[in-house]
Amino acid sequence: MHAAPGFRLSRQRKVILQELRKVTSHPTADEVFDMVRRIIPRISLGTVYRNLEFLCSQGLIRKLGPAGAQKRFDGNLAPHPHIRCLKCSRIDDIHYPLEVPGLPPGEDLGYDVRGCNVEFVGLCPKCRLAQADAGTGPEN
Ligand SMILES: [Zn+2]
Ligand SMILES: [Zn+2]
Repeated sequence: MHAAPGFRLSRQRKVILQELRKVTSHPTADEVFDMVRRIIPRISLGTVYRNLEFLCSQGLIRKLGPAGAQKRFDGNLAPHPHIRCLKCSRIDDIHYPLEVPGLPPGEDLGYDVRGCNVEFVGLCPKCRLAQADAGTGPEN
């Protein structure tokens, strides 16, 4: 895999991309900052934010999560469904090869469709457990 011709990645961008591709935890910008700071101690959070936006705009990483929530980032560009916890916002990859829906002709509203993100939502095992614990009152 080569970057698109005609643009070069700065060292900071390369390190951010490299670190993001190492993990499957879909880190937030703050978490990416912590990862990258180990390699480039003087990097600022603002720089990390800006570079994450840039990498997204170039299609080198993906931004995940609902509008308004803290965004999470994914360095894995292969199409794969996600499952997101409604409580703690954790996002996991689904490895089951799911058929991604396509739009029938004429239903694209004039868009040049580039892809489709499938996201399941629910409660992660940790939050399920916490909820089950909270549900068992002293009367039980
Ligand atoms: Zn959770
Ligand atoms: Zn993912």
